[in-house]
Amino acid sequence: MIKNDIFENKLQGLHSLSSTAVDTKHIETFREYVLNFAANRSTGLNPYIFSEETGIPFRDVLSLFLFSVKADILNIAWNQVCPDCGGIHSNHDTINSIDRDSYFCFLCDSYANTALDEWIEVSFSLNRDMLTPVEKKISSNIWEYTEKYFSSCTIMSQKQLNTLENLTHGFTFIEPGETASMSFLPEADQRYMLFSFEINNYVYFDTTIKAQNSTPRIFDIEINSTQFNCSSPAMHAADTTFRLTNRSGQKVLVILSNYLHGRTELEPRFRPFLNGKTLLNSQLFRTLFRYDRISQNLSLTLRSLSILFSDIKDSTILFEKLGDVKAYELVNRHFEILMQCIDSRNGAVVKTIGDAVMATFNNPIDSLEASIDIIRAINKWQETIGDFGIKIGLNEGQSLAVNLNDTIDYFGQSVNIAARVQGLANANELWVTEPVLNNSKVNKKLIQMENNKEVQIKKHIAQLKGIIESQTVYQLNFIDVPE
Ligand SMILES: [Zn+2]
Repeated sequence: MIKNDIFENKLQGLHSLSSTAVDTKHIETFREYVLNFAANRSTGLNPYIFSEETGIPFRDVLSLFLFSVKADILNIAWNQVCPDCGGIHSNHDTINSIDRDSYFCFLCDSYANTALDEWIEVSFSLNRDMLTPVEKKISSNIWEYTEKYFSSCTIMSQKQLNTLENLTHGFTFIEPGETASMSFLPEADQRYMLFSFEINNYVYFDTTIKAQNSTPRIFDIEINSTQFNCSSPAMHAADTTFRLTNRSGQKVLVILSNYLHGRTELEPRFRPFLNGKTLLNSQLFRTLFRYDRISQNLSLTLRSLSILFSDIKDSTILFEKLGDVKAYELVNRHFEILMQCIDSRNGAVVKTIGDAVMATFNNPIDSLEASIDIIRAINKWQETIGDFGIKIGLNEGQSLAVNLNDTIDYFGQSVNIAARVQGLANANELWVTEPVLNNSKVNKKLIQMENNKEVQIKKHIAQLKGIIESQTVYQLNFIDVPE
């Protein structure tokens, strides 16, 4: 349940923080949604589901949620989600602590990768200081109780819950410092597991032959903050008791079940979720959270990122012709046009290098649309100011998110290629690489524009500086059509 006075106070904070950026009506919808949500559900708030249920466009929902994090209404977490079961392997309050390479899900006995655009879910939860803690009632099926350890985007059916329940032999809650026992009769040639979501660890037990008349066994197991300490993980198929002592410093739930690996019944379905890439490509996120501490060692993969580079044509001539003050004004106005076009296509400016801009997008079509918007806006503006040209290059590919000068930047050959392709462009031209052009939405859009005589496309094979293999690139010239 929500503590109303605290919540209302924080909402006032949200109103003043987001005064121009978020519609007041949306905050009122958010207020009602949160009150209802807190009363009925315990899992995280998913911005896509919020958007679907309230009819507020996703872009506005993301702004609302990000400002709510600033207003201490919501907490943000970076979850490493297991693609096989939907379990949250671990959640982190910053991007820093995401494992660099892969992570292990003990339920599925499998590794998952940590690409920011795959199974890294950014989730939002209500800040605990405005909630009255409610102990969830435990039904006979312990897996219903454990839903908080699964991503809020996981859809687990009743059938799946029943399957899990049938594989479960027992469970026990243990307070810190206490000891609890769990007994059961195992079968021969089986693997069993004891696990705890709180410490995110497990121990397997393999049974050997069914020993007739073998004496009951007692296993003494100590649970610390990261693991189960148990000397002998092999056992006979005879009466077994686990004596579990909790030294983890927190209350833990220990579940005893059959080994789950390979259970196709576990395959959950997923609702859309906000992944790390989409969040990093939000201009608002970069602006609101830019001073958050980012680890110097940050290095996370993105399987696919759309990268834009732009530069002003002959800016030295511009400064020579107009003088520093006038030229500087024009350059700044051009930055404003770019920022606006990039933001409105859900991209973010990563950095500016002199007059050049590097921006990233979630997908090639957004980067293409933004580029067309920029060229059209600059063309229109040019009519009033005279000779001013912009050169744009786009590429799509794998890259590495790193910390550079306390902001998240991207490295990799895809980034280098994007910069080099930009270098091929003339004034108000867009050059794109093959991965961009081959994207089905980009292709469809360009064919349509070609048919309408809005664009001319020319193919080139280019040898880019510093790139060994020659690249197929496309020169796009946009023809202004009367509005
Ligand atoms: Zn799993």
